Amino acid sequence: MDALSDWLSAQNLSIAEKDGRGRCLTALKPFRPGQVVLRVSPYVAVLESQATVCDFCSKIQELSLKRCSYCKLARYCSTECQRSAWKGGHAAECGILTALRKQQRVPPPSLQLMLRALLKRARQRSKGEPVEPWDQPELIEGLETHRADLSQERLVQLSQMAALLSSFTPKECFASVEEIVGLLAAMSCNAHTICDPEVRTVGKGIFPVIAMANHSCTPNAVLLFEGTMGVLRCTAEVAPGEELCISYVDLAAPAVVRKRELQAGYYFDCRCPRCEAATAPGGSGEDATLGGFPCSACRDGATVPVEQPATSSMRTCQLCGHQAEYSSQEAAATSAGAMAEEASALRASGDAGEGMRKCQAALGLVERTKCSTAGGAVRMKVNDELMSCCLHAQDWSSARNACRAALPAYLVAYKVHEGPLLGLQYYTLGKIEWYLGNVSAAVGALREACRVLSVTHGEGHRLVCDVRQLLSEAEASLRHDQAAENAESRLDN
Ligand SMILES: [Zn+2]
Ligand SMILES: [Zn+2]
Ligand SMILES: [Zn+2]
Ligand SMILES: [Zn+2]
Repeated sequence: MDALSDWLSAQNLSIAEKDGRGRCLTALKPFRPGQVVLRVSPYVAVLESQATVCDFCSKIQELSLKRCSYCKLARYCSTECQRSAWKGGHAAECGILTALRKQQRVPPPSLQLMLRALLKRARQRSKGEPVEPWDQPELIEGLETHRADLSQERLVQLSQMAALLSSFTPKECFASVEEIVGLLAAMSCNAHTICDPEVRTVGKGIFPVIAMANHSCTPNAVLLFEGTMGVLRCTAEVAPGEELCISYVDLAAPAVVRKRELQAGYYFDCRCPRCEAATAPGGSGEDATLGGFPCSACRDGATVPVEQPATSSMRTCQLCGHQAEYSSQEAAATSAGAMAEEASALRASGDAGEGMRKCQAALGLVERTKCSTAGGAVRMKVNDELMSCCLHAQDWSSARNACRAALPAYLVAYKVHEGPLLGLQYYTLGKIEWYLGNVSAAVGALREACRVLSVTHGEGHRLVCDVRQLLSEAEASLRHDQAAENAESRLDN
C-alpha cells in the first residue's frame, strides 16, 4: 500500500483512520470549491448499451461506436481502440461472453462488471502487468464487504450470483465461490454509478480509491465523470486535515429516506448534523418541507415524517405540535409518485402527451389531498417529470411552469450543498426562459446555473462553456433592451 500512500500524498491526500468512521480520505492542503481532488480511471467499468462511451479509451463518442462483432457487447471509438482492448484482455472476456450470448445467457451488467474484475486481477497477477498505485488488485480485495451486516436473504442471493459467475469464469481467476461472494458483497456497496455530465446514468464502475471517500449529507466534494474517468471535485473550502466526503444518496430526499437508504445499502445509521437537525423538534424543519404533509391545524406548519414502515398514521406538526391522522395523504403521495413513474414510461415509449396528462392528474391529486408542501419532494418529482414530458411535446411555456414549480424543493434540498442537479435545473430553466423570450428571467437563471456548475463540473467543462455562451447572449440582449428602453424614456421626456 506504500505506493498508494506515496501517490496520494503527491495529490495532497492521505488515508486516515478516524474513530467510528473507519478509513477516510483526508486533505493534506487546502482545496478551493471547483478544484479537482482526484482524477482516476476505474479498475473496471461496464457501460449501458445506450452509452456513447468507448470501452477502451473511455472517450465520449456521440457518433457511431464500432461494436465488437463477436460478443456484440463491447464498443469502441476506433479500430485502434478495438485492437488495443483485444490485446489488453478483451480476447478472454469476449470468448466467454460470445459463448454465453449464443446460449442466450448474457449475464446482467453487475455480473459482467465482476467478470471483468476477476479477469483483470488474474491478468495483473499472471503477467505481472505494470500496476498503477490506484489500480492494484489488493485494493479490490481490501474493499469493505460488511459481511457481518448481510441478511440471510442477501447472502443466499449473493451465493446464487457467485455460483452463476463461477460457472463461466476461468478457474484460475478466483480461489473459491466463497471468495466471489465476498467480492460481490464488496462491489454492491462500493461500485459507483457512472453518469454523463447531465447526471444521467451510463454505467457502473469500481474506483477503489474514490470508494475511500465517506458519505456526508453535507458533502464537501462531488463525484462526476469524464467518459468513465472519475473526477472528484471540491464543492466547499476544505482545510488541511479535513475529511473529503461525497453523498452516496439523493440529497433531495428527506432525512428519514436518506437514513433508510444508507442503512440498507451501506449499513450505517447517518447521524450527521443535517440529519439530526432535519428531524429534531425545533430543528431545520427541512424534513417537514421535503417529506411532510401540510398541517391541518396551522398555516405554515407541516408534519414531521416518520420512519417507514410506520407503526401509526398519526403525524405531528413541526410548528404547532398538532397531532392528526394523515393516512389518506400518505396513500395519495404514493399514488402521485407512481403516476410520475408511469408518465416517465409513457414518455420513453414516445407518448409524451399522455405523460403530460398523467402528471397533471398527479398534480391535481396533490392539490386536492394536500399530500405535499410547496417545496415537497413528491411535488418536485411530479413537476420534474411533467417538465420532461412538456419538453418532449415542445410545449415550452408549460415546461417553464413545471420547471419553476419544482425549484422550491431543489432550493430546500440543496440549500447547504449546491449539487450538480441544482445547477442543471437552473440551466434548463434558463434555456426555456430564453426560448420564450423572457430575457431577464433567462439571465437570472443562467447566472445561477453558471455559479453552481462551474464548481461541480469545473470552469473549463463543455457544459459550463455552453451555459456561459448562452448567458453572454442573454446579457447582451438584456443590455440592448435596456438601452432601447432608456432611449424611449428620454424621448418621452
Ligand atoms: Zn476509444
Ligand atoms: Zn467482444
Ligand atoms: Zn446524514
Ligand atoms: Zn401546525
